[in-house]
Amino acid sequence: MNRFLEQLDDTPPFDFSNYLAYGKIDDIEAIPGEPSFAMAWFNLIAINSLYKCGLQRKHHVQVHRELASFDENPYEEAVIFRIEIKLHVSREYSSLDEFLLSHQDKWYIFKVRDPGKQNGNSRLYTNLFTTSIPSQVRFDPVDPDHQKMLNREFSLDTAEKINMVELQHLIAQSTPGPQFLAAYDVGQGNSNALISDSGGACPDIYFDVGAAVGPNKSSKPGLIDFCFSKQPLIIMSHWDHDHWAGACPKENKDSDALKMNWIVTNQILDPIHKTFAMEVINKKGRIRVLDMPVGDIGQAVLNNKMSIRFTLGNGRTRNDSGIVLSIENNDPDFPACWLLTGDCDYKYFLDKLKPPPAVAVIAPHHGANLKATGTVPIPVQSGYRRLVYSFGRGNKYRHPTPKSVERHKNAGWDVGTWSTAPGGCVKTADICATADNAVTGSYRGGVLIGWEALTSPLPNCLGCSCNTTLVNH
Ligand SMILES: [Zn+2]
Ligand SMILES: [Zn+2]
Repeated sequence: MNRFLEQLDDTPPFDFSNYLAYGKIDDIEAIPGEPSFAMAWFNLIAINSLYKCGLQRKHHVQVHRELASFDENPYEEAVIFRIEIKLHVSREYSSLDEFLLSHQDKWYIFKVRDPGKQNGNSRLYTNLFTTSIPSQVRFDPVDPDHQKMLNREFSLDTAEKINMVELQHLIAQSTPGPQFLAAYDVGQGNSNALISDSGGACPDIYFDVGAAVGPNKSSKPGLIDFCFSKQPLIIMSHWDHDHWAGACPKENKDSDALKMNWIVTNQILDPIHKTFAMEVINKKGRIRVLDMPVGDIGQAVLNNKMSIRFTLGNGRTRNDSGIVLSIENNDPDFPACWLLTGDCDYKYFLDKLKPPPAVAVIAPHHGANLKATGTVPIPVQSGYRRLVYSFGRGNKYRHPTPKSVERHKNAGWDVGTWSTAPGGCVKTADICATADNAVTGSYRGGVLIGWEALTSPLPNCLGCSCNTTLVNH
């Protein structure tokens, strides 16, 4: 396992002799109160490492080799890291999404100086889960030939593919019909699961296996212990750390998540995401890239008039082009759905998908602002409905936002005390959350949802000793 991806408690030392690195932007977020600036994160690989293990080295070109045929992770020993830096965002970009889109396949050469010394212009993460250290960096664009070479190195072009019909069958084989929906407390991140067995909380399918990382790491519960006893299918909504990092092993431990069958999106990757994909393959898990036209809708038909429909968001950013699931109960007297959104804004799938009224919705993007022109799913008329917010206490993005809550309220959801205090408690009216942003109060935990109101929590898993907590329902 590459050290960067292990769930460590202490920041590992960094090999500062490798101070030249290739990097590409991974994420950007607004800084409240500073509209001309934004916080950006770059994912990097030391140039020396690429010389040693890259797939395009002279006499050792492996870039055309099928990903599934690798029996080791070529980036196992690579120095990969992450830089957090405040950037000025020129007015030529109408939004941060536009900025991200115009930079998402552009690579830079980074020079890291004086890491560890205070007063740098940036922060450096030597591990996905530990504290950053101050650093001084400068970066310059890479020439066009190198850009192409780097994009090829970290693409998923040679990964296995799965088409829409194949995924329909795979989903139908994976679950007879979900009776419970779980939204685990992973801190600032997302992990949902579909459970059909009322005897114990063992999922058939996961939708994201995320965890809080980097600047939000303090919101991650100490123990996230997912159940893999049923060899569940894992569908990853999109390639963002907070949607897969829960699969990373604790120091010197094994991770069953890496041995599972993963369905992922075909998105532009970088050294960190590609290394994760390689770790799955290395652990004999399977990575299959969903290959279906944007706008098409797959439907897996299950028992008891149930079905799971899926589609890809038709936005252009990673968040808004992710996989979306609608778990549907097609009882003519009670048509209803659970809607799993990942970080995809409703604007990019809802009008096309047209799900029935929702018993439960996982609010997109941890409760970030919604696009003004999108519609919001309407709830069922009956008294039991759940609007779930999966976020981490005190997260740096200030999720959930008042605007997200207000838009749901306008669509008919009862948002209780969150109308004035978003994130102020874990449960009010239709809202159930995995965390609260209140300074006091320590109650938190995963959310369990049924098709009708639940009278008691599910017992923990049957055969395995894992200890996921689903306390709010
Ligand atoms: Zn996210
Ligand atoms: Zn995301």
